[in-house]
Amino acid sequence: ATPMSIISGVGRAAEFGVLVRDADALQRASTLDTLVFDKTGTLTEGKPQIVAVKTVAQLDESEALRLAAALEQGSSHPLARAILEKAGDTTLPQVNGFRTLRGLGVSGEAEGHTLLLGNQALLNEQQVDTKALDNELAAQASRGATPVLLAVDGQAVALFAIRDPLREDSVAALERLHRAGYRLVMLTGDNPTTAKAIAKEAGIDEVIAGVLPDGKADAIRKLQSQGRQVAMVGDGINDAPALAQADVGIAMGGGSDVAIETAAITLMRHSLAGVADALAISKATLRNMK
Ligand code: ADP
Ligand code: MG
Repeated sequence: ATPMSIISGVGRAAEFGVLVRDADALQRASTLDTLVFDKTGTLTEGKPQIVAVKTVAQLDESEALRLAAALEQGSSHPLARAILEKAGDTTLPQVNGFRTLRGLGVSGEAEGHTLLLGNQALLNEQQVDTKALDNELAAQASRGATPVLLAVDGQAVALFAIRDPLREDSVAALERLHRAGYRLVMLTGDNPTTAKAIAKEAGIDEVIAGVLPDGKADAIRKLQSQGRQVAMVGDGINDAPALAQADVGIAMGGGSDVAIETAAITLMRHSLAGVADALAISKATLRNMK
């Protein structure tokens, strides 16, 4: 194995907008068999939008939206942006005791009411009965929308269905990776039904959903313990531990600095085409050395 050809492989990758940390990273990238993708912002655009609102108990939509948006003022989650955007310039009540429940949602008090906003796991954990919204939840999730539930004083009163479409070039890039023989896996904190619907659209083989932020590195470790050589592709601060655990961490361009610092490979463009380019170059480089 000549170090020179590896260096030239790193240089060639750069021409494709792929920054490889060192020779070792390029070598490890040539032996991968499993690619794990973060969903939000990696497979999808990361710009979710509300597509439907369902309320119960005669609560009107704009009132539900006002309360949900009040809570989301304190959150930087992409789902929070979708809810705030829909609320527009409505005047929002002040929130006291705001809390972020990582991977679950947000809570606080406003106008004398206790508010809880997030996924079904959060409402279940807080013993809130979601029965009145369960049908709508299942229907929206099976279409690939993320259901966000609002509870007021311990009662589930509204559901916001939020869609984050696949990136335009995701399907073609994933198809290319499939043809190259990789097993493709989605890793997400989102609802399993929603995740499966999106995975099907994307042509992904396996879904690991409902994972809390701290569980993502463990999910990678589990795949490795099954003998797989794993790359993790992500863009967020939340993805950093999983990027570090993977045999090769790949950060999408324009993502968080923490992701980029942790990853062995960084894509200059925010596109999955770069993943296919990076892996093809690593294989070609290592093949030439034999
Ligand atoms: P992802 O893997 O998509 O980055 P997260 O761990 O950030 O997922 O969140 C998992 C789930 O928790 C979301 O799909 C959503 O249902 C819920 N959630 C998290 N943060 C919020 C929030 N600010 N508002 C509403 N729901 C949230
Ligand atoms: Mg992401």
